[in-house]
Amino acid sequence: MTSSASTPLQEKIRKRIADHGPMTIAEYMGLCLSDPEHGYYMRQQPFGAKGDFTTAPEVSQLFGELIGAWLLHQWLSLDLKGPVHLVEMGPGRGTLMKDILRVISLRPQMLANLQIHLVETSPSLRKAQRKLLKAYTIKWHDTLETIPDGPVLLVANELFDALPIHQYQLTETGWCERCVGLNEENNLTFGIGSGTLSPADIAKTNLQAKIGDTLELSPASSAIATQIGHRIKTQGGAALLIDYGYAKTTTGDTFQALKKHEYVSTLEHCGEADLTAHVNFQALANAASAAGAHVHGPVSQCEFLLGLGLLERAGQLGAGKSALDQDQIRKDVERLAADDQMGTLFKVLCISSSTQKPIPFSS
Ligand code: SAH
Repeated sequence: MTSSASTPLQEKIRKRIADHGPMTIAEYMGLCLSDPEHGYYMRQQPFGAKGDFTTAPEVSQLFGELIGAWLLHQWLSLDLKGPVHLVEMGPGRGTLMKDILRVISLRPQMLANLQIHLVETSPSLRKAQRKLLKAYTIKWHDTLETIPDGPVLLVANELFDALPIHQYQLTETGWCERCVGLNEENNLTFGIGSGTLSPADIAKTNLQAKIGDTLELSPASSAIATQIGHRIKTQGGAALLIDYGYAKTTTGDTFQALKKHEYVSTLEHCGEADLTAHVNFQALANAASAAGAHVHGPVSQCEFLLGLGLLERAGQLGAGKSALDQDQIRKDVERLAADDQMGTLFKVLCISSSTQKPIPFSS
């Protein structure tokens, strides 16, 4: 018997739990986002006004242009010798890469020395990217591992929030893993599973926690940060990781679901709502530096974009346009950089082969 409205993926998950017992939140999140048949990212239209959420590159071209300018600056200041691999992980519709390449095209010498790679797991999003970026020669990859040797310039915007997390709750008997099971009405429900965290894992985080607190760990995110760090240490280059999250490890339940720009229950709309968690930038930084790379930041998205000339570029873009267009540009700038919008919650971490802090991390 089921009582709440169900999706085909929810049926599949209920059956799996009935057969095999409760699953971890990481397993649940992985299925909801990436199930080959019904996973959220297997659909084409999660982004933009008509979708479920809007990312910074979809807000305004200003975002990708400033990142393009930053990458160009890195190419010059790190004195990277070609061919250089320009890599985007989790490129969505391809909008960010398109804006980056428009700026890089201003330096034909750099463009001629670049090989462009997109790391994307969703076949339908690959199709959208191929269409938007048809003017360029691009290679697609399932993981970073297949990108050929050579220095990299890498960017990932809102990738890590989409990677599975495990949640642990502090109980009288220690840290126990939260999981997804079935209640008496056969509906999905959260519970405490049998997994635990070792005191050694906790000691590493320096946490002060009380009974009932939740701790989120994302081994999948740390594994990618390690790969990026190792790659940059051994082959040179720089990466920008941009996402919403926190600079230092802390407790809190940040698991959330968005559908049509509204928060909804994480246990309903399986495969039809975007499931994310805030990103632990300290964990990403630790993983990349343990792999031997240098880490700069994180800085807030506001600091990053203003430091790269957001206001000047917005003024340029608005010059000679109608009052209506200028007003839209002003609103977009606020959306990207205001404290109460994306400016503070979103952060930018740089991983580099150089100890020298790149702009605007030096401020
Ligand atoms: N960067 C885009 C899209 C963010 S949504 C933007 O800012 O608009 C997350 C993106 O990451 C989607 O393209 C999704 O398909 C992709 N993705 C999810 N898990 C991934 C993984 N493990 N490796 C590579 N891409 C992944």
